Amino acid sequence: MNLAVLPGDGIGPEITNAALQVLERVKRTLSLDLATEVHEIGVAALHRTGTTLPPAVLDACRRADGVILGPVSTASYPPRDQGGVNASAALRIELDLFANVRPSRTRDGLQHWGRTPMDLVIVRENTEGFYADRNMYSGSGELMPTPDLALSIRRISAAASARIAHAAFDLAATRRRHVTAVHKVNVLGVTEGLFLREVQTVARAHPDITYDEQLVDSMAALLVREASRFDVIVTTNMFGDILSDEAAELSGSLGLAASVNFGDRHCMAQAQHGSAPDIQGQNKANPTSLILSSAMLLDWLGRRHRQESFIAAARLIEQSVDGVLGSAAKRTSDLGGPQGTMAFTADVCQEIDARAV
Ligand code: NAD
Repeated sequence: MNLAVLPGDGIGPEITNAALQVLERVKRTLSLDLATEVHEIGVAALHRTGTTLPPAVLDACRRADGVILGPVSTASYPPRDQGGVNASAALRIELDLFANVRPSRTRDGLQHWGRTPMDLVIVRENTEGFYADRNMYSGSGELMPTPDLALSIRRISAAASARIAHAAFDLAATRRRHVTAVHKVNVLGVTEGLFLREVQTVARAHPDITYDEQLVDSMAALLVREASRFDVIVTTNMFGDILSDEAAELSGSLGLAASVNFGDRHCMAQAQHGSAPDIQGQNKANPTSLILSSAMLLDWLGRRHRQESFIAAARLIEQSVDGVLGSAAKRTSDLGGPQGTMAFTADVCQEIDARAV
């Protein structure tokens, strides 16, 4: 199995290096058939090649069995015609990674900020919605008819809504069998109405899975007040982006926030957060996000290619990270601990060795 690894910007190279060390450790421990190839993207690639996402890297991702993408500093990129390409968006579109699966859970002994524990997964549609760079066939989804008037176009299609609903119900069938659709149909009756129509159709085909609906604004409050109520949450692109950062922080820290983006043929591991330039190069980043994202990718590959050892590797990584997070003295500073990125990663690798014997 070949993985294309794109370290990205800001803390990207630090947490990608951590994820690669952990992958190397499980590869050795479980004799995985796994190879990784690192490709330069982001600001470094812009200076060297004139674009933040060289076409050869995109091709390498198409050929790979899976992709690991570090966070990218999109806010500081130049316009697209000057080489500033958002690798995250481009890969989601080019590889048709329509589902962004973002779990958040609290852990025993680790401080969380909501009123209840949580173990939920946000399943976010990834290819349309309010994202100006991916919702038009040609041109941008943002327009400026006059200097004092700006418009955004939001695309919601039946096909994209149906396939994200299927992804959510398939996932719920492996968990606590409960799906909540999050929407804003009271003010966006047409677009949110279409989204809900498709989710409800899929829900009717799964009478064994509990289905309910929640307005996005009350959902933001309920994540704080009673997140334990929720299992799988399915929603449109931007609502999912915002709610998943909230859920991750409430579970302890954005630094815990893992995710994968997948479609019918490809899967990409990606932390939920951004490139955190405020802590870049300081050995402060919590690499849990990308380590656990990589574990989710191994699990996806194991299920797709029926390779039990990959599923076992994903479980071993998860248990080892939980083991290290269980000790206050081994946590990174975002969780109130004293450790840096590198020491935390070394502890996870040691834990893998200890659990494997
Ligand atoms: P951010 O997610 O990078 O950071 C928000 C806060 O969380 C910061 O205080 C940061 O230090 C902290 N944080 C994030 N990850 C952490 C980790 N692993 N460990 C410890 N603390 C962590 O959001 P931002 O500052 O708004 O954005 C920074 C850049 O990232 C911008 O250029 C933005 O466009 C980009 N961005 C990229 C992605 C992506 O690559 N998918 C997603 C969101 C933002």
